[in-house]
Amino acid sequence: MGIVVQKYGGTSVASVERIRRVAERVAALHSRGKPCVVTVSAMGKTTDQLIELARQVSSRPPAREMDMLLTTGEQVSIALLAMALAERGVRVRSLTGWQAGIITDAIHGKARIQGIDTRMIRGCLDRGEVVIVAGFQGKTPEGEITTLGRGGSDTTAVALAAALEAEVCEIFTDVTGVFTADPRVVPRAGKMEEISFEEMLELAHLGAGVLHPRSVECAMKYRVPLVVRSSFVEEPGTWVKEAKDMETTRNVRGIAHDMHVARIKVLGLENRIETLSRLFGILGDAHINVDMIVQSEHDAERIDVAFSVSEDEGEMAKEVIEAHREELGYLKVLYETGLAKVSAVGAGMVSRPGVAAKMFATLTDAGIRIKMVSTSEIKISCVIPRDRAVEAVRELHSAFGLDVAGAEMVGATTTKVRE
Ligand code: ADP
Ligand code: ASP
Ligand code: MG
Repeated sequence: MGIVVQKYGGTSVASVERIRRVAERVAALHSRGKPCVVTVSAMGKTTDQLIELARQVSSRPPAREMDMLLTTGEQVSIALLAMALAERGVRVRSLTGWQAGIITDAIHGKARIQGIDTRMIRGCLDRGEVVIVAGFQGKTPEGEITTLGRGGSDTTAVALAAALEAEVCEIFTDVTGVFTADPRVVPRAGKMEEISFEEMLELAHLGAGVLHPRSVECAMKYRVPLVVRSSFVEEPGTWVKEAKDMETTRNVRGIAHDMHVARIKVLGLENRIETLSRLFGILGDAHINVDMIVQSEHDAERIDVAFSVSEDEGEMAKEVIEAHREELGYLKVLYETGLAKVSAVGAGMVSRPGVAAKMFATLTDAGIRIKMVSTSEIKISCVIPRDRAVEAVRELHSAFGLDVAGAEMVGATTTKVRE
């Protein structure tokens, strides 16, 4: 019988009462004879609290020790969920990421899964046990403990589903599915019945926190049947699937936003053929993810380069550039925070002109200054001041015809997005 992988996020296991409810749901599935593997996140805001503790003892905690600390959060929830299941007479075993055979590279804080040795999990399943695996963690081949980056439990779940060739991977969270925008920001956002891997991947990369981007990448690569649903209400969720299996596409399917963007400007770089490759090579070596890049000629000898990064990597990016001042040969580096990125995403965009024009007109009409722009076949993103981001997302959602009439409550609607 096909294996079911389920993942419950932090809000879904935030209290003992909620853990009991998850246990009931898992027990019911198990009683129907389904082999179940369950991944859980740390309870509620535990990970944030652990980060705050680290901040109190260190201005720059070593990444290895950070992983040592953060992985404790998930260990609490797997043990409690296993106890709650045992209490119901269910045969169960909790496993840390490394016990479950999850092997990662050695980039602490944002490690990538390199492989999963499923023997331990399969052994448990063969004995009829429910397996509870700690999300967001693994170990290097040398035995060092790692984490996969914030929100990484989704990726644990999908990677397990891929490795076990599960029949489905169900992501249980605190909203009823994937919406046309974050339903906490846009009350008129509507739930989608289905979304393509490509569109979901863009939305996730662009800030739609409902799925960890690498979980979508992994589901797409291994064709994992993936659904996002609520752990609180019984309602069909959103299926993430191949575009060819979908009925329709429309030009803009969703609006995403990311509230934590920083911009770095490197002014007066020597205009040499290798300048850009050297600058971004240095940033890449420091594992800094650069997002948008704009280059302009200062004069014949010098160029200016501006780029955006996630705010939590901004200071580091600036320091890395300053440390290589001589090698790079620039005049000045400027650092700006307090920015956000708003993006319109849709696979149908490519065949329809005017989407960028509409986006710029909407922001301009609202008096919102656009600081950077980037486009791809299926998205347009603008960096804007953070204090205007909520307004921008709502305006764009309306302008692209995504508002759902009368949907004033989170999860109140189900719309089939169709042209
Ligand atoms: P979990 O702890 O279950 O992993 P997350 O907080 O990581 O939950 O993800 C769920 C949250 O994602 C929702 O509460 C919602 O505010 C946010 N979100 C952002 N964009 C979207 C979107 N397009 N659709 C649904 N939820 C979204
Ligand atoms: N507990 C981790 C976090 O808060 C991982 C996760 O929830 O997916 O980021
Ligand atoms: Mg999450």
